Amino acid sequence: MSIQGNLDVVRKRIVDAACRAGRDPAEIKLVAVTKTVPLAGIKEVLSCGVNALGENRMQEFLIKHSHLPRGPEWHFIGRLQTNKVKKIIGRTALIHSLDRWSLAQTISKAACNSGTVARVLVQVNVAGEETKTGLPPEEVPEFAVEAGRLPGLEVCGLMTIAPVCSDPEEVRPYFKQLRELARRLQARFPELRMNYLSMGMTGDFEVAVEEGANILRIGTAIFGERYR
Ligand SMILES: *Cc1c(COP(=O)(O)O)cnc(C)c1O
Repeated sequence: MSIQGNLDVVRKRIVDAACRAGRDPAEIKLVAVTKTVPLAGIKEVLSCGVNALGENRMQEFLIKHSHLPRGPEWHFIGRLQTNKVKKIIGRTALIHSLDRWSLAQTISKAACNSGTVARVLVQVNVAGEETKTGLPPEEVPEFAVEAGRLPGLEVCGLMTIAPVCSDPEEVRPYFKQLRELARRLQARFPELRMNYLSMGMTGDFEVAVEEGANILRIGTAIFGERYR
């Protein structure tokens, strides 16, 4: 199917899931994950009204960002090396992958140097998977508060990547856990702005919507399987 066709299906599934949960679909942002997708594919998805793109690799992000017209907002969703941070400051609407203190400090410094404020999400490893980055949930409150006090950095919410499961129902508890964590944080630290819950990918986005996600990161369901 075409990108437009895929997108129609994805949007319909998001609306249906939102309705099941009694939520307004308009409050859910779709980030099209364009890793490995060539420029032509990205232009096509932009022409279908998508205005948020997600990349997880620095090199690819920089090339695509420089070759596409201004307009779409860019989300950096992958592991960030501290020595590369400078390159994305001022080019990203949101960094989803703040997962350690040294990175928070580096982002803060780079943002201050370029006179901007970097908006970030704290990445949480809710399932405790060794292969994934992200903070253990119990470390998130102190970390988020401390990071939020750094100049040039604004903590806007939480992000998680759920374990790969054949049945999306298996990840529901992890999404619930992330939502609960954000709720408790907000209640305890009113100075934080837990505005975003970035959770839900191709295999599990409907469950994520039902559990309160307001940013979905979707690649395969829009562009087809990745080869590489
Ligand atoms: C690749 C990727 C996605 C999108 O995955 P799909 O299963 O293709 O929808 C979402 N989030 C992150 C962090 C990714 O790296």
